[in-house]
Amino acid sequence: MARVVILGAGVAGHTAALHAKRILGSRHEVIVISPNSNWNWIPSNIWVGVGKMRQEQVLFPLAPLYRRKKIEFHQGFATEIHPEGGSESERPFVVVKSTHPDSIDQVEQIEYDYLINCTGPKLNFAATEGLGPEGHSLSVCTASHAVEAAENLKVAIDKLKQSQPQRFVVGTGHGTCTCEGAAFEYTFNLDHVLREEGVRDQAEVIYLTNEAELGDFGVGGLTFTQQGFQTTSRLWTESLFREREVRPILGAHCTKIEEGVIHYEQLDGTTHTLDFDFAMLLPPFKGADLKAYNRTGEDISDQIFNPAGFMKVDGNYAVGSYENWSASDWPKTYQSPVYDNIYAAGIAFAPPHQISVPRTSPNGTIITPAPPRTGMPSGMIAKAVVLTVVDRIQGKKTPPHEAPMSSMGAACIASAGMGFLRGSAASMTMHPVVPDWDTYPETGRDLKGTSGEIGLAGHWMKHILHILFLYKAKARPMWWLIPE
Ligand SMILES: Cc1cc2nc3c(=O)[nH]c(=O)nc-3n(C[C@H](O)[C@H](O)[C@H](O)COP(=O)(O)OP(=O)(O)OC[C@H]3O[C@@H](n4cnc5c(N)ncnc54)[C@H](O)[C@@H]3O)c2cc1C
Repeated sequence: MARVVILGAGVAGHTAALHAKRILGSRHEVIVISPNSNWNWIPSNIWVGVGKMRQEQVLFPLAPLYRRKKIEFHQGFATEIHPEGGSESERPFVVVKSTHPDSIDQVEQIEYDYLINCTGPKLNFAATEGLGPEGHSLSVCTASHAVEAAENLKVAIDKLKQSQPQRFVVGTGHGTCTCEGAAFEYTFNLDHVLREEGVRDQAEVIYLTNEAELGDFGVGGLTFTQQGFQTTSRLWTESLFREREVRPILGAHCTKIEEGVIHYEQLDGTTHTLDFDFAMLLPPFKGADLKAYNRTGEDISDQIFNPAGFMKVDGNYAVGSYENWSASDWPKTYQSPVYDNIYAAGIAFAPPHQISVPRTSPNGTIITPAPPRTGMPSGMIAKAVVLTVVDRIQGKKTPPHEAPMSSMGAACIASAGMGFLRGSAASMTMHPVVPDWDTYPETGRDLKGTSGEIGLAGHWMKHILHILFLYKAKARPMWWLIPE
């Protein structure tokens, strides 16, 4: 009997756990370690954050589902990986600190044969002084953050209704943030709600971003076809912002957030302050707080993780400057080069480099979006890793399954407002996610697989995806037929 241990129960970890158990059945063990009792469909946090959904609609408890599926669940944080075992046994193990109310802070060791690290991002609010719900700005990265954002939005709308003008700032809270798509979605949902409430004329909406130009989205922008014509995500996004009277501030790195004031530096090296009444600013991401030790107890974390705490896998991490970057640097199998029974999927794997052009201000401040690893690639990578692990457990001599972001297409539907008849969403597809200039010398991507459309149909699709992905995550009948 083999034991597969999965760290994290988000998009990648939960996908990995369900597929692993479905294929391996009762002859092998699947164990999930994750700190939260609930699963969260994070994309719909945007709608919670503008008061259009309740948090119960984006959360469900994991323990009953895992009991039903015979997946062992340990509610806690993995804190250490011991890939060579310890003084008593050579069997690898992880150290877990419980977050379950009945055993809070208790520490246990869980042995594994295969380890899949799906710990996603640590929300690094500490990178910018005063950033985040414990500081002076709001977030929608978790369901509870989104609830708080919605409460604050309601207060701001009430003030607008009393003819008190309000300034809303939405965007990224650090020069190295990723997930600009989420900030874009929140901006447009905010605009939509303000219009619905009849108070948009009293409100100023500002999009403050680390992107050097609109439409970069951390993927270096896109050239795509729209209604048969070729355009760029920059032109497309600029016109969406103009139509909605949202003022962008580009190439910005927030240095400090005070009560009602954002301090930021821009790519030209100038520094500014911006007063606000309401600010939803995303944090930068880093890897989970995980350490690794060898058999003798020596700290080997720097062999396993990059300096930001993401797990190094089969990517080329020695490419140096931008001129040397290539699509082939990107990982394919997501296997650790140091321990062949460890893999990382989703945001937990270390990207070899950015996708957007790297930029630094004259003061040496890095202001460039980090590469996004959105839901679809995270799920597809997790499934590929599981299929490889299953093959190895079953003794198959087949090559590992591959899911490189440099040949993978992805779809992203960015909500621009909720409503059965008045809703809207920007539907974008890109192929591949990481541009491949050798195969597609003109634009880096296949124009046939790269597109952008905005409209009500996109909103319906986004809402259908909300229903489908929750159905799938709850492992309802035939769930595995729904693609990642
Ligand atoms: C507001 C918002 C909106 C988004 N909208 C979209 C969208 O519309 N479309 C899209 O494709 N993507 C979207 N994304 C991105 C998407 O949510 C991520 O790509 C996806 O969640 C990444 O999956 P993951 O499994 O790597 O990380 P996560 O889903 O974050 O899961 C990580 C898991 O690891 C757990 N964990 C953390 N530390 C430890 C530890 N030490 N030990 C054990 N477990 C640990 C966490 O609790 C969590 O369960 C959005 C993101 C945000 C923030």
